[in-house]
Amino acid sequence: MKILITQKLPINPKKHLNDFNLIYNENSFPIKESDLLNYIEDVSGIVSTIGTKLNRELLEKSSNLKIIANYGVGYDNIDIDFAKEKNIIVTNTPYVLTESTAELAITLMLNIARKVLEANKYLIDGEFKGWQPTLFLGDDLYKKTVGIFGFGRIGQRVAQILNVFSCNTIYNSRTRKIHEEQLLNATFVSFEDMLINSDFIIITAPKSKDTFHRFTINEFQKMKKTSYIINVGRGDIIKEDDLIYALKNRFISGAALDVYEKEPHIPDELKNLKNTVLLPHIGSATFETRKNMALLCFDSIKKVLLDRKKPWNAVF
Ligand code: NAP
Repeated sequence: MKILITQKLPINPKKHLNDFNLIYNENSFPIKESDLLNYIEDVSGIVSTIGTKLNRELLEKSSNLKIIANYGVGYDNIDIDFAKEKNIIVTNTPYVLTESTAELAITLMLNIARKVLEANKYLIDGEFKGWQPTLFLGDDLYKKTVGIFGFGRIGQRVAQILNVFSCNTIYNSRTRKIHEEQLLNATFVSFEDMLINSDFIIITAPKSKDTFHRFTINEFQKMKKTSYIINVGRGDIIKEDDLIYALKNRFISGAALDVYEKEPHIPDELKNLKNTVLLPHIGSATFETRKNMALLCFDSIKKVLLDRKKPWNAVF
């Protein structure tokens, strides 16, 4: 059986998938669409990444494909409805990346609130001439109201960490989580109340037709002028042009982003703003996590193709 791995992984798949005939794209960037078209016809499994768009036109050309093991928890790069129709199992990598991504959300919060990047640049540029009472004044996290949009695995881990900062954590999610909110000291609020009351809003929701452009100029206008928005979910949950307008006109104080609307394209206008922290989609990028994500993908492939069983992490 042939397995296609569409992008270079941090561990060598050959050691773990030695029962299969591997087609491994050892390039750091995803496989070209033309190459994908060549291989898709007769592969039994694919380990895909966010940069591998497995749409209907491509999946239609497969005749042996039984499993797509997506290297990530979000699987918006795959036409799920069509995969289901074709009886192709799709798996993702939940849990193993929760802590790393939540920790990055907190990193972004601290960085934007304490102007870490700006202050670092100031020092490197040789502008630091001595301690000043008013140099780079930022905001504490201590006792701030933090709104979490999307209270799933990552959102809940963020809430757990925020207790260390004595934050007042509120959240808005598709469904209310009474047990978890009691456990984590968080309060369910309406979307509107989250916008109005938060000092920080952290997006940890997935991409979907319901979350698409959930944050536009209307939402930024309702937020506190002193507030910050952090996005580790998916880029198009925020309408980027509106965010740029809101940041330029100080509707909100700042934005710290790991994901973008048209990745990897980042508008120059966004890059040129001072009240931003911008990272290149590295939410789950730690050695431990990226290794565990790969192992989970390999296990999923083996479960389906060798054991003929549905893995626990199948998305439908
Ligand atoms: P999860 O456990 O499925 O949590 C997602 C949460 O969002 C769920 O609680 C869900 O509600 C909620 N939600 C879904 N649609 C919503 C809507 N329209 N309005 C409000 N809430 C909504 O997933 P996770 O493991 O926490 O991951 C969340 C997302 O983070 C992923 O889908 C991925 O896009 C992103 N992510 C990014 C990185 C990165 O590198 N930046 C890394 C990992 C993940 P229900 O509980 O009702 O379903």
